[in-house]
Amino acid sequence: MRRTVVAIDERECTGCGLCMLDCPTFALEVCDGCSRLADDRCCDGGGACIAACPHGAIALAEREARPFQPGRRRE
Ligand code: SF4
Ligand code: SF4
Repeated sequence: MRRTVVAIDERECTGCGLCMLDCPTFALEVCDGCSRLADDRCCDGGGACIAACPHGAIALAEREARPFQPGRRRE
């Protein structure tokens, strides 16, 4: 299904990991120096992580993603 989820700009991301701390479902992970959405089922598209990024690297975008599963947290 198409829905709004987080989108990381790899050109701007420094891999600092601050966004991970503000995601309530631990949907993000830093891999090879860049944050990415590790489990799209955990992303509610609410954008709570956007303000955490000091580099403006986070936005929301509509794309193909699995349905959001309320209560799910990435292990
Ligand atoms: S939009 Fe919300 S659920 Fe998705 S990665 Fe950001 S803080 Fe986590
Ligand atoms: S807070 Fe911004 S710069 Fe830091 S890892 Fe997350 S997206 Fe990348």
